[in-house]
Amino acid sequence: MQRDEHKTTIYGHLVRVPELPFWGRVTIDLQIGLITKIERGEHLEADHMFGGDCLIFAGLGDVHDHLREDNTGKQNYKEDYTTGAAAALHGGVVHVSAMPNTVDPVIGGQQFQWHRNRVRELDHPVVILNYIGVDATTRPLGKAGEYPYKVYFGKSVGTLTVTYGDELDTILGHYREERVSFHVEYEPIVQMSVGGRTHSDRRPVECVNEGLRLLLPLIEKHGIKAKLCHWSTGGKSFEIIAEYRARGCDIELEVSPLHLYFDTSMTDEDPSLWMKVQMNPAIQAPQHRSDLIKGLKNGFIQYLANDHAPHTEEEKFSAFGQFKNQFPGKTNKEIADIVRDNSPDLFAEICVRNNTSGAPWLDTHGLICCWLMREHGFTPQDIARVASYNPGVFVNRFLPFQFLDRDFGKGFGDLAEGYMGSLTVLNTKKETVVDRKDLKTKVGWSPLEGETLPGAVEAVFIAGVRY
Ligand SMILES: [Zn+2]
Repeated sequence: MQRDEHKTTIYGHLVRVPELPFWGRVTIDLQIGLITKIERGEHLEADHMFGGDCLIFAGLGDVHDHLREDNTGKQNYKEDYTTGAAAALHGGVVHVSAMPNTVDPVIGGQQFQWHRNRVRELDHPVVILNYIGVDATTRPLGKAGEYPYKVYFGKSVGTLTVTYGDELDTILGHYREERVSFHVEYEPIVQMSVGGRTHSDRRPVECVNEGLRLLLPLIEKHGIKAKLCHWSTGGKSFEIIAEYRARGCDIELEVSPLHLYFDTSMTDEDPSLWMKVQMNPAIQAPQHRSDLIKGLKNGFIQYLANDHAPHTEEEKFSAFGQFKNQFPGKTNKEIADIVRDNSPDLFAEICVRNNTSGAPWLDTHGLICCWLMREHGFTPQDIARVASYNPGVFVNRFLPFQFLDRDFGKGFGDLAEGYMGSLTVLNTKKETVVDRKDLKTKVGWSPLEGETLPGAVEAVFIAGVRY
């Protein structure tokens, strides 16, 4: 084969939606960063060769991340664009979309511009997009469909919050036909449930379902193209969503690895898990988890989305801060260890109290894809659909308005001519022990720490360059 320094070739088992994996060679033009050729066939020569243990996907994408950095810098101790992007790359993720609930929320053109300038200045190989937050004071930035918006219906983390249905009606009236992602939890039910024993009791299924009952008629009324974030419940909520989809509403769903991996049977058995898995909305009973896994596999749910939400361990163990006076100089986690050794019952009781919600997930994204294939019977094409193709379709429409002077060709999500030369190679035969020394997130811990996951991220290519 003729060596061409402006091109790179990659050979292996290629995965596209909806085909079966096939042997083939991808050619990427390094000057434009795009795929110029896909050839089918076995035993083709290439610069980068991957064997039968590996699957080659169009680069994985994540449509829901909290990267923390903003002009105040106040939360840069948790994460910043550079460390968040490094965690993404480590997890096999080539594009991420940052949520707007930073300390100075991204709600207007000025803040949005600050973030776009910052992303441009950093010039990280991982492509970073920004959502724009919505509240009672905001209006769309451009023409319908040019920017991704986020509404916090219910209080989560940060100050961007819409509490009541009539308030939401007025707001969505300004965002007709726009593409809006929603956090859905009905705050009055959360308030009624504050006395609950565990985080799931304090944020019960009903607060999600009631939020949904209020939200979907408004989505229909205002022609919103909706994406419901980190979906946490099956059962009734699936029925309500199916009913509105049947009426022609555009409603997509994300599910987070946390809701796919954990349920309340596990936290009942080991309350210390709450320190890793508290998030909003809360994990629920095993039946919900199994509905979510099934829904992601059969296409009811469109996106595997991390909701990467880094908090420090000190913040995750915040309920143990009440003993600070007794243990001067100790961290919350050190205090938790002492309490556990001295009084297991007291330890269990403090663990179920309210701590900080959210966990870092970008580092382990590729491993979760391998786990879904190995443990839950996802086909490689299923993974390509929920982790690569659908996230690609979601962001491609926004790229020209976020990167004014960069050409992404046909964008992300497919192994085809004209698409980005960004590929994720997963080794499905290896195993990976999740170890904090390997993590790139600034907070340096993972809910999966110590677990052995099937698979490994073998290689990541961005615009043809191997990382
Ligand atoms: Zn989130």
